[in-house]
Amino acid sequence: MIRTDEYGYEKIVAPLLLWYGENKRDLPWRHDPTPYRVWVSEIMLQQTRVEAAKEYYLRFLSALPTVQDLAACEEEKLLKLWEGLGYYSRVRNMQKAAKIVVEKYQGNFPQTEKELKNLPGIGDYTVGAIRSIAFHKRAPAVDGNVFRVLSRISANASDISEPAYRAFLKEKLQKVYPEEGVRCSDFTQALMELGATVCKPSSPDCALCPLQNLCKAKEEGAVEKYPVLPEKKAKRVEQVAVFFIRTPKGIAVRKREGGILKGMNELPSMIAGESAPQEMLLAMGVKEFEIERERKFTHIFTHIKWEMTCYYVSALTCPFPVYTAEQIREEISLPTAFKQCLEGEV
Ligand code: SF4
Repeated sequence: MIRTDEYGYEKIVAPLLLWYGENKRDLPWRHDPTPYRVWVSEIMLQQTRVEAAKEYYLRFLSALPTVQDLAACEEEKLLKLWEGLGYYSRVRNMQKAAKIVVEKYQGNFPQTEKELKNLPGIGDYTVGAIRSIAFHKRAPAVDGNVFRVLSRISANASDISEPAYRAFLKEKLQKVYPEEGVRCSDFTQALMELGATVCKPSSPDCALCPLQNLCKAKEEGAVEKYPVLPEKKAKRVEQVAVFFIRTPKGIAVRKREGGILKGMNELPSMIAGESAPQEMLLAMGVKEFEIERERKFTHIFTHIKWEMTCYYVSALTCPFPVYTAEQIREEISLPTAFKQCLEGEV
């Protein structure tokens, strides 16, 4: 059950817009916010912090400046551009969506909620961001930052993972959006900006906040009590053996056939059972090898934690494709889980 509230959300619009005009950060995606650029930045920002996203964004836009370029990009190049961001399915979906925009909409993003939502990988939040920031529509984009601000100002103790609460807040915001135009873009970004820079998850800077006199959580002296989050589930732990196999011709990299990261490149790996690493190498078809050393790594996915043992192996031959160190650095995309095993090696 969610708790509704009668908070007067219309009160926040004017002070937020004023504050945003004076305090907004100069971010690369705020220059020339076309639908394509807004979309790319918002997907990246769902995966990494603003500071890290800047570099990825500029590199991506320089390689693929238009939706047509993204639609036509060769897969390995696309994955390489996404390397380090994780959630590779997102960039694959972006390419599927780009192809639809090019083929069905002649390269022009559709403007309606329904058409945008039909594009692969574009959810409620991204639809709102594109429509309000690029098309200046009265379309809320409510991400974690925005939910935090809204649940604090209204001191609403509903669980923010509840779809009904999200829908409730979205509806409340929708009603108070400025008239269609550039202020819609500013209002969306002002809410995001306040959550990212002032109303932070812990230790919010209430003294700097333009909403401090309108904030019920502050009035109650209980800002850390909001937002109410769902209980965290423990991650499943998997023991994974990874093999860094160096042959005279290069380093072994293969495509993953199943499980998490399916279809991505990997250093050959197996879920570790009772078998010794020598037995696993033989089972994979590697012969005449020597295990030189091993190192431990961990990698955290959304629901799984990998406890990895990387074995550094020299072999005369191996049954997998091999690449030079330069190819691995420059051309081959390797998920972060495996990339850490390369430290000091390539
Ligand atoms: S007063 Fe504090 S808790 Fe309330 S919205 Fe501002 S920063 Fe967040």
